[in-house]
Amino acid sequence: RAKANARNTVQAYRPELTRVVQQRFELTHALRQANEAAQFRLEYQPQVRLSDGALIGAEALLRWRHPTRGPISPAEFIPLAEDTGLIIPIGRWVLEQACAQAARWQGQPGKPQQVAVNVSARQMRQSDFADTVEQILLDTGCPPQALELEVTESLLLEDAEGAIELMTRLTQRGVRVAIDDFGTGYSSLSYLKRMPIQTLKIDRSFVSELSSDANVAAIARTVIVLARSLGLDVLAEGVETAEQAEWLRREGCDWAQGWFYGRPAPAEDFMAPAVELPRSETRRRLQLA
Ligand code: C2E
Ligand code: MG
Ligand code: MG
Ligand code: MG
Repeated sequence: RAKANARNTVQAYRPELTRVVQQRFELTHALRQANEAAQFRLEYQPQVRLSDGALIGAEALLRWRHPTRGPISPAEFIPLAEDTGLIIPIGRWVLEQACAQAARWQGQPGKPQQVAVNVSARQMRQSDFADTVEQILLDTGCPPQALELEVTESLLLEDAEGAIELMTRLTQRGVRVAIDDFGTGYSSLSYLKRMPIQTLKIDRSFVSELSSDANVAAIARTVIVLARSLGLDVLAEGVETAEQAEWLRREGCDWAQGWFYGRPAPAEDFMAPAVELPRSETRRRLQLA
């Protein structure tokens, strides 16, 4: 009887399960077609220097418009692309587009002189990843210094030796490496001293709670100090208010990115954020005026 019950339970779940599997199957199929039908495009979000608001770069963010469902968030389709291996051709396309754009922007005032590209662990584990990046840099004429790769902590933990080797090779070429979403992964601080990285990106979840949670503020402050003492640049993600920007600047954070400075936008619509003067300077000017 127990067996019969168990079977009933399984059957009861089946329609649900089938629907989830079916949806995944359909989305995978759509994703495969999207790659061929040019449904992807990149948007760029400004990254600024907190001390004076100067534009220092932009992060390339992938966008997918599904023919019937409309825009689908990368948070939904990137994991699927990773599971199915589609992230390999898609990620390659992203790198090509972003490097070509960075090359076009070189020397243009008001345009980002560095482009940051998100790279998934699966992409970086491809044995020819470094060759691919070097070839794309050559083909597009993008200077290596104009490319920053954003990797997550999980990559570093899965295959630390391989990651160190790969990142050493790329950074020797002049490509920069940033740790994305710092503080959210299963981080092990020990890798920080061994990894050839240049930037820590403080995750947006810390920035959004700066003013409401003293513990969060303490963590953010500590990450800034940690990065600086390791000689790394530190960028805060998801800065939405002037208060957050001011707090981060005061605590010695170098760079910021977020809606306060600009939303992601297509390359042709890219606008440098209006340079924000430090408060004292603004006051002085107002008094003069
Ligand atoms: P991420 O790399 O941490 O990118 C930052 C995300 O925060 C982006 O979401 C961006 O639109 C959003 N954001 C920026 N400023 C603000 C703000 O002030 N407030 C709020 N609430 N959000 C802000 P998006 O574009 O939806 O991308 C989500 C994630 O998808 C990215 O997180 C990244 O992990 C992944 N992703 C995006 N493009 C690519 C890609 O080309 N390749 C890979 N492998 N992953 C990508
Ligand atoms: Mg990123
Ligand atoms: Mg991030
Ligand atoms: Mg994030």
